[in-house]
Amino acid sequence: VRTTCEVKLEVLASYLYDVIISGGGMVGTAMACSLGLDPNLEGKKILLLEAGNKKVMDKVPDAYSTRVSSISPGSATLLSVGAWDHIMNMRCKPYQKMQVWDACSDALITFDKENLQDEMAYIVENNIIVAALTKQLENLSDQVRVQYKSKVVKYTWPKSHQVADAIPWVQVTLANGQTLQTKLLIGADGPNSMVRQEAGIPTVKWNYDQSAVVAVLHLSEPTENNVAWQRFLPTGPIAMLPLSDTESSLVWSTSHRHAEELLQLDEESFVDSINTAFWSNENHSELVETAGSLFRTALSVLMPSAGSARQLPPSVAGIGPKSRVMFPLGMGHASEYIRHRVALIGDAAHRVHPLAGQGANLGFGDVACLTQLLSQAAFNGKDLGAMQHLLEYETERQRHNLPMMAAIDLMKRLYSTNAVPMVVLRTFGLQATNTLPAMKAQIMAFASK
Ligand SMILES: Cc1cc2nc3c(=O)[nH]c(=O)nc-3n(C[C@H](O)[C@H](O)[C@H](O)COP(=O)(O)OP(=O)(O)OC[C@H]3O[C@@H](n4cnc5c(N)ncnc54)[C@H](O)[C@@H]3O)c2cc1C
Repeated sequence: VRTTCEVKLEVLASYLYDVIISGGGMVGTAMACSLGLDPNLEGKKILLLEAGNKKVMDKVPDAYSTRVSSISPGSATLLSVGAWDHIMNMRCKPYQKMQVWDACSDALITFDKENLQDEMAYIVENNIIVAALTKQLENLSDQVRVQYKSKVVKYTWPKSHQVADAIPWVQVTLANGQTLQTKLLIGADGPNSMVRQEAGIPTVKWNYDQSAVVAVLHLSEPTENNVAWQRFLPTGPIAMLPLSDTESSLVWSTSHRHAEELLQLDEESFVDSINTAFWSNENHSELVETAGSLFRTALSVLMPSAGSARQLPPSVAGIGPKSRVMFPLGMGHASEYIRHRVALIGDAAHRVHPLAGQGANLGFGDVACLTQLLSQAAFNGKDLGAMQHLLEYETERQRHNLPMMAAIDLMKRLYSTNAVPMVVLRTFGLQATNTLPAMKAQIMAFASK
């Protein structure tokens, strides 16, 4: 005769998963694919929950989307678990060079293919990344279950082992009333992560005084368009990222007020503002120019062959239909990425300013690291939700993510002023770095992981 407790446990077991991933954005969907493809995790019950609809793309739309990401070679390797082929068959644009320069001086830095063995990075539309991963998940339907339109409304954490009759797993309650259990909950639910909040994980976060205006740009004439351009204006960085021979993507971070004004402008004035932002020297000062040119001359004596000439970006002639949107920018970092039976990945764990194009890349790095540790744990017959390997995940990822986040935040602050002493300092710093190929190679290697 079965006791009531045994019957209850049997019912619970039918809804028990080894891993539930909450949130099917770019990072959560990549996590689901990566776990589904791991041979050591074969036979594990894995579920992906996403509040929104399934994002399929039978045909690539003619018009480019405004939301794009610069995908590093490291992320492309992670996505190569099937999804990268789909991305290449749909649409993506590799680029070989990057030029970053200061609007308050002539200082610039370039990174190019000579410093790397391969492409520098790829510009891919976010909806193409998600559609490619979704397609890949369809091939993994025996390994991973996916529930769309499934918003989680509550998480109940396992009680201490001493409590008799307590459920040892994380309980996940959906908006439709369904309750599921999991041995490991992976929070991939974005910057306002409910997993992080309900787990009570402390987070350092602040809003920047900037919003990003994004748009699809039509270039004045076809070009090879294989350079990513970014200019630091005193109000924030403006970036033009290649999409095709005739189109690029704009990410213009500026004050909230200016961003709103940019959205209100008619198309011609908006295009003029973009060209002026890339081309005008109105923020140059004589003092900074003299100091910068003296420093450059000294550098060229010390290192005659180093450095690179300044190039001008292509001019913009128009924008895509209904393509102007703005997003407020912020920074956030969870002081812990894990708890017993819980791990955070992607923007749920860390949110950064888009100036270095690293947000999604950091998330894909989390996916690669967590997959490897869970695979090892499964191979050794360990409980997937145990602290031991989760702690390894946290240590490894914080060691990578924190220096990157600190560097991005420092860049944002360093370039948010046109105070002369600061401009002179950063001009010297950028010019010197530009003449040091070994240092540039190190920067690129760190950013391309
Ligand atoms: C202007 C701009 C430009 C950028 N450019 C780049 C770039 O060039 N390169 C780069 O690497 N990064 C870039 N980023 C950052 C990048 O977009 C983010 O880091 C990335 O989208 C984060 O993905 P995510 O999957 O972690 O989170 P999200 O995209 O926020 O996805 C979270 C998902 O969780 C779901 N969800 C939330 N709550 C629940 C719930 N309760 N139940 C079920 N599902 C839920 C949501 O529906 C959503 O699908 C940029 C960001 C901005 C704003």
